[in-house]
Amino acid sequence: MNEPVYLDYAATTPVDPRVAESMCQCLTRDGTFANPASRSHVYGWKAEEKVEQARRYVADLIACDTREVVWTSGATESNNLALKGVFEAVGFSGHLITSVIEHKSIVDPAKWLEAKGVDVTWLTPSAEGVITADQVRDALKESTVLVSVMHVNNETGVINSIPDIATVCRDNDVLLHVDVAQSAGKISIESTYLQADLMSLSAHKFYGPKGVGALYVRHALQQGRVLPQVHGGGHERGLRSGTLATHQLVGMGEAAKWAKSEQVEEAEKIALYRDELWQGVSDLPCVSRNSGSAQVMSGHLNVCFGSVDGETLLLSLREMAISSGSACTSASMEASYVLKAMGLSDNDAHSSVRISLGRFTSHDDVIRTIAHIRQVVTRLQAA
Ligand code: PMP
Repeated sequence: MNEPVYLDYAATTPVDPRVAESMCQCLTRDGTFANPASRSHVYGWKAEEKVEQARRYVADLIACDTREVVWTSGATESNNLALKGVFEAVGFSGHLITSVIEHKSIVDPAKWLEAKGVDVTWLTPSAEGVITADQVRDALKESTVLVSVMHVNNETGVINSIPDIATVCRDNDVLLHVDVAQSAGKISIESTYLQADLMSLSAHKFYGPKGVGALYVRHALQQGRVLPQVHGGGHERGLRSGTLATHQLVGMGEAAKWAKSEQVEEAEKIALYRDELWQGVSDLPCVSRNSGSAQVMSGHLNVCFGSVDGETLLLSLREMAISSGSACTSASMEASYVLKAMGLSDNDAHSSVRISLGRFTSHDDVIRTIAHIRQVVTRLQAA
C-alpha cells in the first residue's frame, strides 16, 4: 500500500527542506552553537547575528519593528503570555472578551483568569463559524481590558474580520490580541493590516520546526502593560527569559522568509486543489461543508459526511492522514466543541472531518483522495 496522503497541514506542516538545511548548517557548520547572549566572544556574536537575522525575517512577515518580536516556544506559550501578561499587569481585574471557538491555549488561560476573578465574556460564533466586530462592540464594558479573537479557526479555517474588530477595539481604547497561528505565513497578517496589539505565531504551522514561536507585542505595550510569565535572565527585553535556541529561531526565520515571498502564489494553488477536492465529493448523499459561505483559508475543508460515524470514517479512510477536528482534542474522540458551538448536533459533529492541504499537496494527491473518499463513504453509507 502507498503511504497515506498527508492532509493534516492544519495540525502541523512538514519542515521545508530549505528550512531544515538552514537549521542543520546552524547546528553543525556555522560555528553558531554559542549562547547568543554571550557578549564576550565571537562565537556569541555569530549566534546573536543569526538570531537577529531570523527576527528580521519574522518582523518582515508581520510588517513590524524587530523590537516588537518576542521569541517563545510556540503559540501556546504566546497565547498564555498575552492573556496572563496583560491581566497580571492590571491585578487580575477587569473584563476579557474572547470566544468559545478559540484554541484550547486561549480557552484554558481565559478560564484560569476567570477563576482568579477576571470577568470573561465568551462570544459564540454564527452557524458559519464567524465572530463579528458587532458582537465585540455589544460585549464591551467600561472595564474591558482586552479582546482576544483568533484570525483563522484551526478546525474550520473560517477567517474572522480582524481589521473590523481592531477598529472597535481602538475606538474604545481596548487592547486586541489575535491568535494568528493558522494564518501566519499563509495570508497577510501584517500588523499594519490587522491592527492588533498582540499576535501569537507558531513556526510549525508554516513549514518551520516545532517548539518555537513568537509573540508580537506592539511597542507601546512594552512599558509594563504585558508582564513576563517566564522569569530568569531578562532575555527578550525582559518579556521572556531563557537561552535562545538559535537553530530553532533560524528555522522559524527561514520559514518566515519563504512564506513572505511565496504565500500569495501558494495560497492560490492550494485553494484550487481544495476546491477541486470539495467538488469531487460534494455530490455524495448527505455531505455538507461546515463553513457555509463564510470566507475560509486556502487549505481548510471541514466536511460533514452525514449518517457516517466520524471515528469509523477516520479509521476507514486509511489512504489519507486527516483528523476529526483539532489534533489536541481528537485523541479523546469527543465531538468538536467548535462545531457544536456553531450549532451542529452531536451526530453531525461526530460525522465531520477536517481535511487540510498545504505546500506539498500534489494534484495526484487530490485525485487519489477524491476516489478514496467516494469509495469509503459510499460503502459506509450503504452499511
Ligand atoms: N492556536 C491555534 C489556532 C493553533 O492551531 C495552534 C496549534 N494547534 C496553537 C494555537 C498552538 O500552537 P503550538 O503548537 O505552537 O503551541
